[in-house]
Amino acid sequence: MIEALLNDGQRALRDEIRGLVKAVPRQLILDMDADKVTYPKEFLEEAAKRKLLGLRFPHEYGGRGLKWADEIVALEEGGALPLALGCLYSLVSICGEAFHLFGREDQKRKYLQPTIEGRLGCAEALTEPRGGSDFFGATTVAVRGGGYYRLTGQKRFVVGAEGADYFLVYAKTDPNAPGRESLSLFVVEKDMGVEVKHLYGLMGTRGGGAGRILFRDLRVPEECLIGREGQGGEVFYRMMIPERMTSAAGAVGMARSALEIAARYSDKRKAFGMKIRDFQAVSFKVADSVAKIDAASALVHASALQIDGGQNNRLARRMVSESKKFCTEVAWEVVNDAMQTMGGIGYTNVYPIERMLRDARLMMIWTGTNEVMNLIIQHEYYRDLLGRGLETRDIEADAAAADEAEEKVYE
Ligand SMILES: Cc1cc2nc3c(=O)[nH]c(=O)nc-3n(C[C@H](O)[C@H](O)[C@H](O)COP(=O)(O)OP(=O)(O)OC[C@H]3O[C@@H](n4cnc5c(N)ncnc54)[C@H](O)[C@@H]3O)c2cc1C
Repeated sequence: MIEALLNDGQRALRDEIRGLVKAVPRQLILDMDADKVTYPKEFLEEAAKRKLLGLRFPHEYGGRGLKWADEIVALEEGGALPLALGCLYSLVSICGEAFHLFGREDQKRKYLQPTIEGRLGCAEALTEPRGGSDFFGATTVAVRGGGYYRLTGQKRFVVGAEGADYFLVYAKTDPNAPGRESLSLFVVEKDMGVEVKHLYGLMGTRGGGAGRILFRDLRVPEECLIGREGQGGEVFYRMMIPERMTSAAGAVGMARSALEIAARYSDKRKAFGMKIRDFQAVSFKVADSVAKIDAASALVHASALQIDGGQNNRLARRMVSESKKFCTEVAWEVVNDAMQTMGGIGYTNVYPIERMLRDARLMMIWTGTNEVMNLIIQHEYYRDLLGRGLETRDIEADAAAADEAEEKVYE
């Protein structure tokens, strides 16, 4: 975190999260990475006990009523933990957003509050075996009748498939409507008959129980609809803010942790009679990493302020996507350079860098791939640039031959 950007409350929050990070048992981390755990509920209970879940949500539901500018401080600090723990922590922010903005009072009491209090585990089910990027092409359907929706379909890669108590599931309620109006969001309790069909063997980010779940003509009560029928697209766009901000801020924290381990190592490790940090090839990697991490952290902070300001949602959407893409790529590069700095031992499980590298790889894929982030960034940028006139000096006209109109050929 960039110290100058923090206020006293945020510094105090950072310290509280440090306490949570320190309290996580080492054995839990090892057991998760060894796939001996599929859902560490005790971690969520510990975070809830410290009132650190769902920070942005109102006090009456157990939150702290904070802003994005605060939550990113917690997320970045929490990035020191393995990614699966960060993911479970973030899911409260992501799923909570749907209840907070679109849920009815009874839904907030029944789901949001116990989730923030660590009594219920939540999961989100967007991705289908047929594809995650093409979200609006979902094929899971919900057909209404007799006070119920009959839910049929399947979702893939759902973190918490095994351990969550409920899933937020997007399904087509009007398959003939245009994509964005065809979907609705439902809260589906595990006990309603959700079947877990497969748990994936993952390269990293283990211990969250990412699986494929199946809905076989499941009866979901009408009151489980979140928002209006057909409002799923709108809910999705709002949920993508926490989805991607949590990825972005957590990535910065992971990068910072990897860099610290590698930099300390480089101050102790010797080669050719000198500390390896005295080789420019090593210390310049450290310098590059420091600069990248600070740039990433500042971008997340600026994005948080843009969301909190609430004045330009399209700009916020672009900045959130920039943050997700940039921070996750920075994390990948920094962790990779940390491994290089440490030589062979960095590739072993004597240090956690190899786990971080496995974790970091996922961040460029999930919560919307970085290619999808590029789609959004360029779309919003062109839309903004070409939609407004020239607001500043006409720099293009400053070229010596700028008035050679015949040379400005576009087709
Ligand atoms: C461990 C793990 C945990 C996950 N957790 C969850 C979860 O809890 N809940 C959930 O719902 N999902 C979850 N996901 C799913 C994740 O969000 C998706 O994997 C991701 O969105 C990509 O979808 P896909 O895998 O179907 O790839 P595809 O959509 O098939 O994409 C494949 C490739 O094509 C590219 N591509 C696709 N469309 C375009 C386009 N228009 N322009 C440019 N490139 C394109 C993609 O960038 C990618 O490189 C998780 C995934 C993993 C691996």
